[in-house]
Amino acid sequence: MKVNYGSTVPISTVDWHGKVSIVFFLRGCPYRCPYCQNHELLFESNFVDTSLLEAEMKKSRPFVSSVVFSGGEPLMQKEAVKYLAGYAKKIGLLVGVHTNGYYPHVMAELIKEGLVDKFFIDVKAPLNDAEKYSKAIGCLDYSDIHIDSQKVIEKVSESISLALEKDIELEMRTTIIRDFMGSSDEVSETAKSINELTGSRGPVYVLQQGFAENAMMESLRDIKPLSRDELAELADVAHEFLDNIYVRTKEKGNEKVNFE
Ligand code: SF4
Repeated sequence: MKVNYGSTVPISTVDWHGKVSIVFFLRGCPYRCPYCQNHELLFESNFVDTSLLEAEMKKSRPFVSSVVFSGGEPLMQKEAVKYLAGYAKKIGLLVGVHTNGYYPHVMAELIKEGLVDKFFIDVKAPLNDAEKYSKAIGCLDYSDIHIDSQKVIEKVSESISLALEKDIELEMRTTIIRDFMGSSDEVSETAKSINELTGSRGPVYVLQQGFAENAMMESLRDIKPLSRDELAELADVAHEFLDNIYVRTKEKGNEKVNFE
């Protein structure tokens, strides 16, 4: 079987907090987030045999406990991911998937076949604001994106609900890019929309320090990342609606925010 493949990180401690993982970056994505750091994965194809990735997993197996499929958007390649997740399970690895939430039906198949242990779902903007979501995923700036942001919001919401309903470990995360996405109001609205969707203050929500130096949109490349303190302030804002909040920075990694 062929997979549209980007690259591999053989041993990573940052892609699945608390676990050591091998990470595969797969090509292709239906979004065009202007701040995308991996935009080289969006446009060109590189089909390789899945046996190449199997061999990589085998090599990393003594040092890792999990595999993470990332991208790009890995769930665009349903058959390849199902096949590789099956292989990972066979050699005793846990399986995590980084997804933009656009493929709930693929998530459902992975869950049904027992091929996934954790989803990491991007919540790129408030789940009740199609205009903001449009901006975040590039509908306003790129003509080769052919999806409707209201539909995107519905699919992301369905993905989140599905993971919760099926009791699959879930992390939702928002990448904060100064003056682009992640103002105090936007974080508040995003947290509120998660609370309203899930009916709970409990889901894990991560505010990620976004870096724009390699952004797809050149005009964003000079933007300074938020500091850890600035992210902690945003966590306080989100805390009005959610309790399990983490900030993720280059300096300190993943930190749970203590609100006591
Ligand atoms: S940042 Fe956006 S465009 Fe880039 S891979 Fe992720 S979802 Fe796709």
